[in-house]
This record gives sequence, C-alpha cells and structure tokens, in this order.
Amino acid sequence: MGSGEYSYEWRLEEPHHHLICRQCGAEFSLDPTYLESMAKRVLKDHGFRAEMDHFAIFGVCQDCQRTASSE
Ligand SMILES: [Zn+2]
Ligand SMILES: [Zn+2]
Repeated sequence: MGSGEYSYEWRLEEPHHHLICRQCGAEFSLDPTYLESMAKRVLKDHGFRAEMDHFAIFGVCQDCQRTASSE
C-alpha cells in the first residue's frame, strides 16, 4: 500500500471514483473521465442525467488476478 491518501474521503465537490479489490481490499482511484463518458451515453440513450461524482467499482486487482492464474 502506498500513501494513505485514498483511505480518507475527499470532499464531495471533487468528483472521484474508487476501484476496490474484493480479494485483498486494495483501493485505487479512478479518473472521473471514465464515468463521464458513460454518463453522456446514459443521457443520450435514456434522457437521464446521472450524477457520476462518486462511484465505487468492485473487482479484482492486477495482483490478485496474477495470483489466481499462477496457481
Ligand atoms: Zn470517495
Ligand atoms: Zn487485490
């Protein structure tokens, strides 16, 4: 783990997202532009203005994938 910067909640006026590993609990920050493009598609296809300012996405991190495949 690097600095503890991401373990504290940032103020909500700054959009940010989290990638959280289900296996080891590692947390990474995700550039908000990833979700912006999704919000644009949602608005276009559904006319719904999604508020993509704070998201947590769960999955498996690179290290855990490597551990699983090298068994
Ligand atoms: Zn957060
Ligand atoms: Zn992991």
